[in-house]
Amino acid sequence: MSLTLHLDVEAWRRHLAQTRDAVPGLVPVAKGNGYGYGLARLADEATRLGVDVLAVGTSPEVAAVRAGGWRGDVVVLTAWSALDPTAVALLDDPRVITTVGRLDDLAEVGRRRPGARVIVELLTSMCRFGIAPDEVARVRSLAQGLDVEGWTIHLPLKASDGAREAAALAERAVAAVPAPVWLSHLSPAECVRLGDQLPVETRLRMGTKLWLGAPGTRRTSARVLDVHPVRRGQKVGYWQHRMPRAGHVVVVAGGTAHGVALSAPTAGATLKQRLTSAASGAMEAAGFALSPFTIGGRKRTFVEPPHMQSSLVFVPAGVPVAVGDEVPVELRLTTATLDEIVEG
Ligand SMILES: *Cc1c(COP(=O)(O)O)cnc(C)c1O
Repeated sequence: MSLTLHLDVEAWRRHLAQTRDAVPGLVPVAKGNGYGYGLARLADEATRLGVDVLAVGTSPEVAAVRAGGWRGDVVVLTAWSALDPTAVALLDDPRVITTVGRLDDLAEVGRRRPGARVIVELLTSMCRFGIAPDEVARVRSLAQGLDVEGWTIHLPLKASDGAREAAALAERAVAAVPAPVWLSHLSPAECVRLGDQLPVETRLRMGTKLWLGAPGTRRTSARVLDVHPVRRGQKVGYWQHRMPRAGHVVVVAGGTAHGVALSAPTAGATLKQRLTSAASGAMEAAGFALSPFTIGGRKRTFVEPPHMQSSLVFVPAGVPVAVGDEVPVELRLTTATLDEIVEG
């Protein structure tokens, strides 16, 4: 089985260091599948970058980045809940900064662990977590006895005017409790400008643009595990679909467990696409979905939906393909699980 990420480590690290240098107060975000690299790997890279704090998504991910060697402060981005035993236990950890998104929870954290390090989340147009702007004034008294390390503002990716929204919220919050403002999804320049407007420092959290920001530093490939000649009309696969043409069924590494199903666009979704496919005589015209695997210079169609760890794709007769070939595969790295990372 091999779905492989080929990484030009030197070039990637140059990009990471440049980003760190361009973003004062950068807080790298390592969460979920570790943006395809894994949390331990990102923890190691964050250590090399020499940043003072690393953000994780959920409370159990604190242990995951520490397993990767991280020794600095960790901020948990998901708002604290008394229903999360790991988050409750982490209140006692002096290197963990807890995000709090509700007034009741702020009171609860204060009761359970006086002196806990917290940042208070402000509700934005995201409408996810956070204290509403008109509740900000109440934070001052509730936060007494807590170590308020900042306010946090998480803007939508598609904000109509993110910088203005952030500035209005931040001014209101900082007037109530003067503390640094932690931001997401602003440009570094917008973040610096906001810092100049405020009497406190700003910090910018970044995941995708940091870890996945230099696409030229990586490529993903899938190994060809087997190849079988098929006749026109032959039934193939779990679902015994008939092949509309003669050619080869190619078994490639990469299935639903790798996140391949999610990245496979459905071909022929629109009438126009179907007509284009029909005109070019492609498999898509017969209802076969386009796969993310490129063989012989173009993306090939799935014979059927991906299996757990491999996929069946069809190539017409005459396309050279052999067992052991490494073929390009297009993956969204935030939803992919790779079998291995090969450094070059
Ligand atoms: C996940 C997350 C980020 C990082 O998002 P990217 O789009 O990957 O940069 C930043 N801030 C918060 C609060 C998050 O939850």
